[in-house]
Amino acid sequence: MAEGRIAVVTGGNRGIGFEICRQLAARGLRVVVAARDEDKARQAAAQLDEDGIPFRLDVTDPEDPSRLTAFLDELGRADVLVNNAGVFLDRSWGGLDVPMDVVRETLEVNLIGAWALSQAVVPLMRRHGYGRIVNISSGLGAMSEMSGGYPSYRISKLAINGMTRILADELRGTNILVNTMCPGWVQTDMGGRNAPRPVQEGADTAVWLATLPDGGPTGQFFRDRRQIPW
Ligand code: NAP
Repeated sequence: MAEGRIAVVTGGNRGIGFEICRQLAARGLRVVVAARDEDKARQAAAQLDEDGIPFRLDVTDPEDPSRLTAFLDELGRADVLVNNAGVFLDRSWGGLDVPMDVVRETLEVNLIGAWALSQAVVPLMRRHGYGRIVNISSGLGAMSEMSGGYPSYRISKLAINGMTRILADELRGTNILVNTMCPGWVQTDMGGRNAPRPVQEGADTAVWLATLPDGGPTGQFFRDRRQIPW
């Protein structure tokens, strides 16, 4: 029963994140549209009618996980967290010359932000014996496809895949399912105009994972609703 459930989507103001918000709202969830710019959060949430709840959240701000916990406490529950906010800051650098500031900034958003927010919502999920955490990763983070180029982005997604396995294992038996997914190459500001996939397709697997039935998979890596190699 999706009705009444509350989902939080980071980077929910545009791109794949906004489409995830839209699809979750269409399935009857109330969606906390989290965005680092308050106006953008409000504008995006307004497009979901009464199902959208705007919330200002910068995943790199150390204050924001506890602000989110307090906000969700007031709403009464937290059922779904989609760690979607992400940056792609690599240029033509390789692992040998990428500026370490770029690596740090990428890890702050793509890994540590998602990690801290997962810590912030799990206690509320435990309270109701239900939770779905979906980490938006990338095939570029798959160990089986690891190669040169885009080093900070690749490492950040490899790391979020590892975090997925750790949390899923620690939460086994709690009905809190933690999975990671690759949306494919999607037409967004990050993916660019030449990407073959529309956002609807890019968001589909995340929404499926966010609404998995009890007893569904946990600690796995998906694309197009199918498990893919790490
Ligand atoms: P996008 O269009 O560039 O959107 C990125 C979103 O992340 C924006 O809402 C942005 O907010 C938000 N964001 C960035 N830094 C943030 C921060 N510090 N705090 C909160 N929000 C922050 O990217 P996208 O293509 O939709 O990507 C969404 C996810 O899919 C990312 O994790 C990305 O790595 C992954 N992915 C994308 C593709 C692709 O082909 N597009 C492929 C594989 C994986 P602002 O609007 O404020 O900047």
